[in-house]
Amino acid sequence: MITRNDIADMIFPDVKETIADLEKKFPERTNPISSRFAPSPTGFLHIGAIFASFTAWKFCSQNNGIFVLRIEDTDQKREVAGSINEIIELLKTFNIPITEGPIWENNANVGDYWPYIQSQRKYFYQVFAKQLISEWKAYPCRMTEEEIDEVRKQQEKTKKTPGIYGNYSKRRNMSADEIQKKLMSSDEDAKQFVIRFRSPGDLTKRVVFEDILRGKIEMMDNYNDIVLLKTDGLPTYHLAHIVDDHLMRMSHIIRAEERMPSVPLHLQLFAACGLTPPKYCHLAQILKLDEGKKRKLSKRKDPEANVAYFFENGYAVQWILEYLINLIDSKFEDRQKANPEKTYLDFEIKLEDMNKAWALFDLVKLQSVNNGYLSRISTDELYEQSLTRAKKYRPELAKLMESDVVYTKAALNIERHTPKDPKRFSTYADIENQLRFFYDSEREKMSGNVEALKSGNVIADKELMKKFVAEYIQVLDLSMPVEDWFNQLKEIGKKYGFAGNNAEFKEWGYIWKIGDLAMFLRLQLCCATQTPDLFSVMQVMGKERVVKRMNGVNS
Ligand code: GLU
Repeated sequence: MITRNDIADMIFPDVKETIADLEKKFPERTNPISSRFAPSPTGFLHIGAIFASFTAWKFCSQNNGIFVLRIEDTDQKREVAGSINEIIELLKTFNIPITEGPIWENNANVGDYWPYIQSQRKYFYQVFAKQLISEWKAYPCRMTEEEIDEVRKQQEKTKKTPGIYGNYSKRRNMSADEIQKKLMSSDEDAKQFVIRFRSPGDLTKRVVFEDILRGKIEMMDNYNDIVLLKTDGLPTYHLAHIVDDHLMRMSHIIRAEERMPSVPLHLQLFAACGLTPPKYCHLAQILKLDEGKKRKLSKRKDPEANVAYFFENGYAVQWILEYLINLIDSKFEDRQKANPEKTYLDFEIKLEDMNKAWALFDLVKLQSVNNGYLSRISTDELYEQSLTRAKKYRPELAKLMESDVVYTKAALNIERHTPKDPKRFSTYADIENQLRFFYDSEREKMSGNVEALKSGNVIADKELMKKFVAEYIQVLDLSMPVEDWFNQLKEIGKKYGFAGNNAEFKEWGYIWKIGDLAMFLRLQLCCATQTPDLFSVMQVMGKERVVKRMNGVNS
């Protein structure tokens, strides 16, 4: 007579160890707190994944815990070459340090609970699957797609709950002898089987479990005989979660809310393997308002779902994190207002206090948080950060920024941290655009715009403006107090037909106003209609450069 152990041996002849043997190799950690980030290397990192990884890391770091990076590459069709290193780089960019993971050169492992890449852990999954088969808690199944489809149609017709369970599973109730015959069959297809879980649940059972964020949750229990190992020998997410999070001795599973419906299944699996489950915390989903309706941020429809979007559009790493924390921690904004000198890193995250329902992603709010951040940091820091960013996205500008650091910092610093601070920058792209014209070579490239901007305006009158410039540069003195400088400009402007204020404009029949003259200077100096405070710009540029740019009225 064929025993259950025989079946397990037939399927996994090379596997000699048990779950208990593996547990000895990967003993409980002395550190009571550990968690992980478990992305798939698909070349796309969802903003929600950064949120989850930051939360898990922050929770670990607050508790002197271990933070692990595990690469979930069991869906090899979706894998994109180079993604693992991209993920590692991205975590570095976000200042999320990893304690253990495939983070050494060539993705070599750091840590004792290795390997940290799932495709290298096949043997461990087999050990678990083999033990489950020998205990009759799992079984090989070769139901074809067509057969599964047939079951689905039948269930639909008879209004039965869908799934592969009970008598709907062709192999669930087979004896060891029957299974052995199937396995020995010469039919090629017979070898193409998956391993299914023999779920102890049924359609009537309910289960109660604890979620750190959501408290007691009651749900329908799992009744499905889900697939544990696929035909390629790689595990499904469910088996991999049990095996890896147990063998890596993770104390806390901090993951997306989407995974919560699987908890009943995961608890059944932990119980079937004789293991104690970790603590769960399912984070709120990040939603977006679309025509008044809330929906998930979609990889397909929303460019901002991809973390890369923020970098390309010049958002600060710190901002992205602050914004995400704002979304999930309703107390964060108040705490930050009360302690403006502190950063997001100074505040403790309390998993149980985070938003439960959902978090609404709002690009406008995001920009305002980013603006707050960029306005707060020192100009030296602003320089360093924008230089790092420009090196990657605007290398020519980066060279200019480095060629005259004092000039660049002075340009950045205009009106910052003063009572009049207009808080000019919401993204690094804003900084780049407002810095560019300070450099002569860049201003040269932009000069083509100027005539277009001047056209239809008095300032397109070259002869008139040349005369104005000739007179103005004789008296220009950038060391004057700003009020005197402005009065002087107004006085000279009047001679050329520019009213000094609205009253003069109405009463004296001027055709133009001082604002038009300021726009002329702005365009002449900066090739832009929006610039920082004009006098400050002139002071930073210095008289020589200002005169040179003004003399180029024809350019
Ligand atoms: N690879 C899974 C995902 O990216 C991990 C989920 C988890 O944290 O357990 O969704």
